[in-house]
Amino acid sequence: LSDRLGGILDRLKRRGALTEADVNEAMREVRRALIEADVALDVVRSFTDRVRTRAVGAEVIKSITPGQMVVKIVHDELIAMLGSDAKPIDLDAAPPVPVLMVGLQGSGKTTSTAKIAKRLTERSNRKVLMASLDTRRPAAMEQLATLGKQVNVATLPIVAGQSAVQIARRAMEAARLGGYDVVMLDTAGRVTLDEALMAEVAEVKAATQPHEVILVADSLTGQDAVTTAKAFDERVGLTGIVLTRADGDGRGGAALSMRAVTGKPIKLIGTGEKMDALEDFDPRRVAGRILGMGDVVSLVEKAVENIDAEKAMAAAERMRKGQFDLEDLRMQLDQMEKLGGLGGLMGMLPGVGKMKNQLAASGMNDGVIKRQKAIIDSMTRKERRNPKLMDGSRRKRIAAGSGTKVEEVNRLMKMHRQMADMMKAMGANAAGKRGGPMAG
Ligand code: GDP
Ligand code: MG
Repeated sequence: LSDRLGGILDRLKRRGALTEADVNEAMREVRRALIEADVALDVVRSFTDRVRTRAVGAEVIKSITPGQMVVKIVHDELIAMLGSDAKPIDLDAAPPVPVLMVGLQGSGKTTSTAKIAKRLTERSNRKVLMASLDTRRPAAMEQLATLGKQVNVATLPIVAGQSAVQIARRAMEAARLGGYDVVMLDTAGRVTLDEALMAEVAEVKAATQPHEVILVADSLTGQDAVTTAKAFDERVGLTGIVLTRADGDGRGGAALSMRAVTGKPIKLIGTGEKMDALEDFDPRRVAGRILGMGDVVSLVEKAVENIDAEKAMAAAERMRKGQFDLEDLRMQLDQMEKLGGLGGLMGMLPGVGKMKNQLAASGMNDGVIKRQKAIIDSMTRKERRNPKLMDGSRRKRIAAGSGTKVEEVNRLMKMHRQMADMMKAMGANAAGKRGGPMAG
């Protein structure tokens, strides 16, 4: 997968700008990646449409290839769609806060109920009561009781012969009397969706008014999980989703589909059978997994963050032409600061090593850079554009204005002159080699 997208990137690299054809070509691969990741077809379609609209005509940062830019846009859209706003179980209500767990049989409801209870107890310091409403399988209630002992969370005493709604009411009552913060209600599931199951869940919901209705879905069941999510959301109304068996799912597509189809956030993911195998949902990681291109994405992000390359290239061009003024120097200092050193823009120019050494020798460090920027900021625009104006009285004024000394202003001006001279010389040199005016 990565190889294939990598190939596309190489091909795009050789082209100048991001055309509609470029985007379409990249999107064909992205579409295939999504399908391989088990994303539902109509979600793939709407997603690629959205990205295409955004990508065509988008400004391409010069330091990265157009293909990387497409990947970055795809990645951002994936995260947006997966929900960068994902938050864990919401308990912001009067205690005891009911949390209803629903889903098909075997999806991992009982396991996830205990995992969440453990987490709320240990991390959020809540007093949690768990109750099994599974009246169909006799062993189900025992299973929750056993898990409760294991994770040190109380379970509602088992009383034979009660209906799910009766148990739910009893659980709420016990929680009120016992001063519990949270009541986790673990419902029964069916192998397939059916009306009896939905009716029971709806009845429990009406009786307890849960603050969260969490669908537990097995990510390995792919499209079925999406259908399940849609049905539960339409019939009962969901507030969030827990995706289990993420440990066995290397694809991550179910998360995207479920989110797209229901609009409900994926809150947590189950990553194993053990009681602490529960993780916060991380859209970035899932997006990376779906694309299999995490490296490219972080590379692109770094480029965007650290350096506005368009600006830098323009400045480099000005340098080559010997038009390096104090505003250029100011930007240069910004870049140095951002890149944490003297690399950056300097590195884009040929034969620049000598100057780097010179700057290093002059004791450039972060503190110095800050003061130099302050000096330039105290100049008028005219002065920055035309360094020749900088006579004695102006230097004195600027030193006072920037809280520095005249000597420092002098040093900065000297450094600027040296750099400008060097750029001019290099520019002439390069022009000569290229067969420019000097060669004529
Ligand atoms: P329920 O019928 O929905 O209550 O499902 P259970 O909680 O009883 O889980 C069914 C099986 O799935 C059990 O053997 C669990 O240990 C297992 N299981 C649950 N969650 C996960 C998970 O995230 N990863 C893995 N590998 N197994 C899980
Ligand atoms: Mg169960």
